[in-house]
Amino acid sequence: MNAASPNIGELPRPQIRPLDEAAINRIAAGEVVERPASAVKELVENAIDAGARRILVDYAAGGKVLIRVTDDGCGMVASDLPLAVARHATSKIDGSDLLNIQSFGFRGEALASLGAVGRLTLTSRAAGDDAGAMLTLEGGRMGPVRPAAATQGTVVELRDLFYATPARLKFLRSDRAESQAIYDVMRRLAMAQPQISFTLTEVNSDSPPRQIFRAEAQQGDFFDALHGRLAQVLGRDFVENAIRLDVERDGLRLTGYAALPTYSRGTSVQQFIFVNARPVLDRALLGALRAAYADVLSRDRHPAAVLNLICDPQRVDVNVHPAKSEVRFREADAVRSLIITGLRTALASAGHRASTTNGTATLLAMRPEADNQPAPSGTPPARVYQMDRPSMASLRRAAVWQSPQMGFADQPQARLDEAEPAAQDYPLGAAKAQLHGNYIVAQTATGLVIVDAHAAHERLVYERLKQQMAQQGITAQTLLVPEIVEFSVPDCERLLAVADALARLGLGIEAFGAGAIAVRQTPAILGAISAAAVLRDVLDELIDAGHSQLVQSKIEAILSRMACHGSVRTGRQMRADEMNALLRDMENTPHSGQCNHGRPTYVELQLADIERLFGRT
Ligand code: ADP
Ligand code: MG
Repeated sequence: MNAASPNIGELPRPQIRPLDEAAINRIAAGEVVERPASAVKELVENAIDAGARRILVDYAAGGKVLIRVTDDGCGMVASDLPLAVARHATSKIDGSDLLNIQSFGFRGEALASLGAVGRLTLTSRAAGDDAGAMLTLEGGRMGPVRPAAATQGTVVELRDLFYATPARLKFLRSDRAESQAIYDVMRRLAMAQPQISFTLTEVNSDSPPRQIFRAEAQQGDFFDALHGRLAQVLGRDFVENAIRLDVERDGLRLTGYAALPTYSRGTSVQQFIFVNARPVLDRALLGALRAAYADVLSRDRHPAAVLNLICDPQRVDVNVHPAKSEVRFREADAVRSLIITGLRTALASAGHRASTTNGTATLLAMRPEADNQPAPSGTPPARVYQMDRPSMASLRRAAVWQSPQMGFADQPQARLDEAEPAAQDYPLGAAKAQLHGNYIVAQTATGLVIVDAHAAHERLVYERLKQQMAQQGITAQTLLVPEIVEFSVPDCERLLAVADALARLGLGIEAFGAGAIAVRQTPAILGAISAAAVLRDVLDELIDAGHSQLVQSKIEAILSRMACHGSVRTGRQMRADEMNALLRDMENTPHSGQCNHGRPTYVELQLADIERLFGRT
């Protein structure tokens, strides 16, 4: 014991005593119910477990004042009600086998917790019963069971969430942020249950009810239903660009839809993973998804996918997290490998981009620090790149140049005659050709340079945007006809909340009825752009950043996003003078050697290295 501490002997000895039931439930509630959206999740999951076909969720003030979940499930008889709100009472498991859980719920503590921190009213009528019953639980105090008028099913009403725990109340975000979290929870659950209809309505007392989200029950087989549901939740865009997934190995099945690499997103907001239809947020599974696309996406782009892993409940432990958002697999490696190979096979069979990686093998094998293959003995350690840290992406890019079927002669003529011979003396040399609609090959005094024209242009536009904004703010050009872009109501709100910040960037938006946004102005520097695509990416970023507080630091990220949309798109053939202008521009622009995401915009091969590759030295 520390001699300098106060005289322990003089302090009263702390007494150990059991907490009362209400305190225990409030503590449990702290884990289960973090915010209104978690209450919505628990209640909707209960409705799903009860076999509901139709689930209505109404809420007021971001769920802080009211959450009401109405279902047409099996309902409860009067004598069930006190048990339903008792802690650790559940109809879903008998406790003998925690590794065979078929339902969402099993802990038996959601209703008890909600009634400990808010005012809970349970009204229910069981199938076959001719009367309903109700019960209240407020701040842990249970009222009597009373008869009530009710149709079959259950209505759970939760008022004044956290009134009994003011400390938690203080941690809640704005009504808008909490509404958005509720919306996100609903979307996730709706994706997992295509046959159930979901409706989310905001019912603030000072305005008419507003439908936030609605997903009709889907018909057909599993994939038809899922396809229809994903179109409702993620949009037509997603499903039109997604491949159906259905692979199975050793009793582990992976189903869902995965978007083509060309439908990649600026953030990971369109990645949804379910395990036996339970939404999970699992780093390892998300990591596997990313790994599956690593070959076909650049590091700054994120795949979009909805994956459902189906397996015997015995093989996955869902009792890891009080909110049940994490799971643990017995065979974690098998799961990871199923996701990776399943997705890669599906992407490859879709017959697109994956094929562009074929030519990489040659160069990768020569890479000094090649991951798996040691260089064959006798092969000189070829140092191919001058870039400080050649990324896999840059290696791949360079490999395009290596592929044998690609003679320069096949190239669409780029009017090379116009290239100034003197250009060769510039650091980035004289442009000789443009390959695959993107890569510029230029000859320098001592070797050659391959430029990723898209990445380079993106960087230049970004630097110019930044400079322009620093000087005079960004010039906006007004569209003759405003572009109308449809979004969900909460997404519109997310965007409109940052309308001022976007206006400063030259992107003028305003509400266009409920569920649409009119784009009136775009940044002049970007020329003609797709406002819908820009807004979608801006939205992804807002969702990703959590709340709508778009501070100055966010602006540059958005500039970078905008620059991406305004840049030379892969596929567009450049004239020789354009290519040379780009090279000169790069030489004169700070930071142009890397794109906005830290990847190199060009690689340089010295003649000496090329000669070494051919064994000439
Ligand atoms: P759990 O879902 O883990 O069992 P809850 O506290 O959420 O625990 O619910 C306790 C019990 O109340 C459930 O096991 C179920 O029997 C009953 N119950 C809750 N919500 C509903 C509902 N919407 N319809 C029918 N029964 C319900
Ligand atoms: Mg439950």
